[in-house]
Amino acid sequence: MTDNLIPEVIPNWVNGSECLADSGATIDKISPVDGRRICGLARSGANDVRKAVAAARAAQPAWAGLTPVERGELLYRITRLMREEQKQIAGIIAAETGMALSAALGEAGAAIAQGEFMAGEGRRLYGHSTTSAVQDKYAVTVRQPIGVAGLIIAANTPIANIAWKVFPALICGNAAVLKAAEDTPATAWYFGGIAHRAGLPKGVLNVIQGAGDEAGAALVENPEVGVISFTGSTAVGRRIAAVAGERLARVSLELGGKNPLVVCDDADLERAVEWTLLSAFSNAGQRCAAASRILVFESVYDRFRERLIRGAEGLNIGPSDQDDYGPVINRRQLKKMLAVVERAKGKGATVLTGGHRLTDAAHAAGCYLAPTVIEGAGPQDEISTTELFGPVACLYRVEGFAAALQLANASPYGLTACIHTRSIHRATEFTQKVQAGVAVINAGTYGSEPHMPFGGFKQSGNGTREPGTEALSVYSELKAIYTNIDRGAL
Ligand code: NAD
Repeated sequence: MTDNLIPEVIPNWVNGSECLADSGATIDKISPVDGRRICGLARSGANDVRKAVAAARAAQPAWAGLTPVERGELLYRITRLMREEQKQIAGIIAAETGMALSAALGEAGAAIAQGEFMAGEGRRLYGHSTTSAVQDKYAVTVRQPIGVAGLIIAANTPIANIAWKVFPALICGNAAVLKAAEDTPATAWYFGGIAHRAGLPKGVLNVIQGAGDEAGAALVENPEVGVISFTGSTAVGRRIAAVAGERLARVSLELGGKNPLVVCDDADLERAVEWTLLSAFSNAGQRCAAASRILVFESVYDRFRERLIRGAEGLNIGPSDQDDYGPVINRRQLKKMLAVVERAKGKGATVLTGGHRLTDAAHAAGCYLAPTVIEGAGPQDEISTTELFGPVACLYRVEGFAAALQLANASPYGLTACIHTRSIHRATEFTQKVQAGVAVINAGTYGSEPHMPFGGFKQSGNGTREPGTEALSVYSELKAIYTNIDRGAL
């Protein structure tokens, strides 16, 4: 069914119509499950991006002229169609990423919840009213659109990443150009179709396919794009911030993580192991929030290690609902991770389990990496400080709480963190002191719910938070309005 939904070449959506790149060039989308070509996608260039931005610019004033409630109604219509077509969306995600259908259905559900939350903002979009030092003067703040939003996303959770940016950008009255991830072109194209069928005015949402350093870079450079919201790697985020900074465009960066999960000596070890397996390996570790540094108290280290290895070796790897995780997104990623693991071994780290590609008949054609647990890496080694974005976790022995907190914070990243303990004292001190945008007690390192802010300290971002109502500050200008009464005119 799904393959029939994906066209031979995935076009852009520009000004309410589907179109190929001006050059006619395409890029192949390869299945990470079996290495076969799924489809082509438009290899858009600067000219295609210019057209999309022009369409957004032309459509934006009328869109901003609707009341926020009317905009919210249109966003609700999109979410209703998403719900009706949730199976189709999930099928496309599963085909493109190799994620199990059940996981893709869950992700689509989260994207719908995100949309509903932001559609509801149409009835809020709160500013505030405040006092003044001056008699007969009143002060309020209102939110106003920025103009054209350029949205650039990663492939790891394709529909959630789209919802996370498109819905808040639109509810604030901006028009948008979404640059799809080249590894998940069909999900973005299908979403563009849903928005179109839901009656979103043409040009309000444009979807551009293509390569990052071509279509993505052109979007960032375009002077008509007032705000750029980017989800992806820290290296690319840094480049985007530099280019956009030149022309003082607003930038929101949701970047990588190297997230710590601490297991104390008073933790429920069974649960800590279960949560570590989920945090490190679900979605093949392709989560910015994934736990990749597992810091374990000395006194429980050996017991924890033994259970974690057993758990990792019991995981089923493959694309079905019976599997625990699927392939990584492409061969380049797979190769990159294997090289880092090899270099870590060269520096004295020990691979406790995994560390290799799965090459049996069921997996050989795909991008499958065995669940990998490593110990003995130095805290400042490449493998401890580089985000791998795959099913690889490093174990570290720590003497006690102070050492765990210190090591948790000894990272260039600061996205998520988790502690397993029964002590309210340790839990409170950790969540207060850990340098992370999200801190969790006794569960996994996970992203936020739609109504909660998500984002990171240090090199995990640039201080913005999406989603939650905090996302509204990314996509709107705040205006202070003062009203003065002329008593003589009363
Ligand atoms: P990536 O940075 O290579 O690519 C992300 C997107 O940026 C893609 O659409 C790509 O085409 C585009 N891009 C690449 N070069 C560009 C350029 N020069 N100019 C403009 N756009 C460009 O990242 P990836 O490897 O595809 O995704 C994984 C990364 O995303 C990880 O680092 C992960 O942690 C991060 N991520 C972060 C969050 C978060 O919320 N913090 C969520 C998901 C993923």
